[in-house]
Amino acid sequence: MTFDPAVLIAPPVRELAPYVPGKPIEELEREYGIRDSIKLASNENPFGASPRVREALIRASAEIGLYPDGNGFALKQALAEKHGCSPESITLGNGSNDVLVMLAEAFLTPQTEAVYSEYAFAVYPIAVQATGAKAQVAPALGPDQTMPLGHDVEAILSLVNQRTRLVFVANPNNPTGTSLDETSLRRLITETPRTALVVVDEAYIEYTDPGFPDASRWLSEFPHLVVTRTFSKAYGLAGLRVGYALSHPSVAEVLNRVRQPFNVNSLALAAARAALEDQEHVRRSVTAAREGLRYVKRELDRIGVRHLPSQGNFVLVDCGRPALPIYERMLRAGVIVRPVGGYGLPNHLRITIGTEEQNQRMLAALEHALSQP
Ligand SMILES: *Cc1c(COP(=O)(O)O)cnc(C)c1O
Repeated sequence: MTFDPAVLIAPPVRELAPYVPGKPIEELEREYGIRDSIKLASNENPFGASPRVREALIRASAEIGLYPDGNGFALKQALAEKHGCSPESITLGNGSNDVLVMLAEAFLTPQTEAVYSEYAFAVYPIAVQATGAKAQVAPALGPDQTMPLGHDVEAILSLVNQRTRLVFVANPNNPTGTSLDETSLRRLITETPRTALVVVDEAYIEYTDPGFPDASRWLSEFPHLVVTRTFSKAYGLAGLRVGYALSHPSVAEVLNRVRQPFNVNSLALAAARAALEDQEHVRRSVTAAREGLRYVKRELDRIGVRHLPSQGNFVLVDCGRPALPIYERMLRAGVIVRPVGGYGLPNHLRITIGTEEQNQRMLAALEHALSQP
């Protein structure tokens, strides 16, 4: 008898397409035989982690023979202080991705549903589909709206019903950079019945304008609200994988049941604590990203490339024609950006804001790539 894993595969996994990450620098350089490439494809912090993180990692490396603290006591204490909540409200994850998967595992079944918007973060469909739950995808706002391709709260709410267990929104959203204002976000939370959880993914909250709505402040008002945060972006720890959820303690208790033991490793725990202590590094990184975004947008206007409003450390550009050939030409120039055809945006590229020098190099590569037919 021949071996055929396709007949063994769990039905929900049958239709699953794997997440496509940004191209790693080493892979590009191996494939194209080039050097000195830059990656502006995964919204990482171009300045990396705080120097204090490196010191903490060296100290923590002495203990890697031991299992980590499976409850992450010290990191939860520090986060509880930061957010003015109890440690019982916090669920740590191996990246916030891990927390999103825990939410799906803990609350979804093939009989239930999850709602998110068109152009929402790619991890939501993967996490939902793997459980066999039905994904209800709300059409996004049109390209000519004030928030082009943004989330439509009305459309999302119209898909919420008695079978809905999870509603996912990233604010700001990736890959669009678009966001919901306070009124819309509060309306979404208020009008979602308490038979579903609203998950507000705040991976990019540090980069947003002053006055941007921070749902983590509303946790005591809404027991069905879950807010996720990450150390992968402004804190510069993408390689270590640490994120967390803030929620009602009763929700955290449920997540803890599906959480893998020791899901956050000891180096990540130590690094996250050190990173939290260096808020100056976060501020500097955020200021540079915001200035860089303004510069990149100005230059995009100058070269006549359309782009979406962004509250993140990245911008979604509309090439006005298929973006893959442009992406490939930029690769040959040693600049990795992110094609988003998988999101149903074949003409767009998502570009992370880098250092000044990286931004200039990216813009030159983009302008050159666009100058070719
Ligand atoms: C990058 C990102 C995350 C963070 O993922 P981690 O697993 O914490 O690295 C979460 N949500 C969105 C929308 C993101 O873009």
